[in-house]
Amino acid sequence: MSVDVIAGVDIGGTNISAGIITKNGELLGHNEFPTVSEQGFESAVNKIADHITELIQRADYVLLGIGIGCTGRHNRAEGSLGNVEEFLPGWQGKNITSAFHDKFNVPVALENDADAAAIGEHTWGIGQGTSRFLLVTVGTGIGVGLIIDGQLYRGTEGAHPEIGHHIVDSSEGTVCWCGSQGCWEGLASSGAMTNWWIKNCSNVQDVKSMNAYEICRAANMGDKCAIEAVNRQGFYLGLGISNLVTLFAPDMIVLGGGLMRSVNLFMDNIQKSIEINCMLVPHHNIKVLPARFGTEAVLVGAASTLLAGDACLTH
Ligand SMILES: [Zn+2]
Repeated sequence: MSVDVIAGVDIGGTNISAGIITKNGELLGHNEFPTVSEQGFESAVNKIADHITELIQRADYVLLGIGIGCTGRHNRAEGSLGNVEEFLPGWQGKNITSAFHDKFNVPVALENDADAAAIGEHTWGIGQGTSRFLLVTVGTGIGVGLIIDGQLYRGTEGAHPEIGHHIVDSSEGTVCWCGSQGCWEGLASSGAMTNWWIKNCSNVQDVKSMNAYEICRAANMGDKCAIEAVNRQGFYLGLGISNLVTLFAPDMIVLGGGLMRSVNLFMDNIQKSIEINCMLVPHHNIKVLPARFGTEAVLVGAASTLLAGDACLTH
């Protein structure tokens, strides 16, 4: 018997993943590969399309549509990519929904990656049934999707609010690509953690070999400087999350993205920060939990956007 599926695509600055998901949110299979944005937009579209085709051919699957979660801000109505120059240079303005519609002739939706993950975790994941819900993805950057009264919150002109770039400590860090000094992404993304480690812990031989995941692993093995890097990271993650708790007093804050593979390393610092900084809201009732879909939160969420009430589709 055939199975109806939606393809989900997660486009980040480092990696792209493409998968197929049932209408109930079950991930049936996915492939991940490096973005290599300098090879160009068309090359990436072809590669993604090949992976979707390969996944669809694994069984008797019927493709209902494609949902794309992409880093950056986009023109959802047109299906074109917005300012993505920092992570996907040369791709700005490309019409990504038309590109996939031309290849598969099914509806295609485009959403900011953090917003897609928020919709996915709210529809099928750990946020089901909550009214006020925030999803934080921590990886190359920090993205936040906000659900209020069960709906994705959009700013003026449909803007994605850039909560990952709210300023946490203007006396710390370097100037972020967003233009601010001491924004949350500049202090607590995996890139920020790696930069701090290179400056403070590394020697010449291993500068190239450590990424955030490996720093976390070194910390788990007792490396003193890596533990310091992790504690600093937890401190700044905790400050940003405390700000969200105080600002929104939500039912739940969910943590996803690559760095949250190591969420247990940061949880104590996050909880401590909330205890100290969020006295004016009922913070004991606010759950802070890992995403159900983990590092696949954007991928699964992208598929869910196709079913969302206000999805902008290219038919
Ligand atoms: Zn920033």
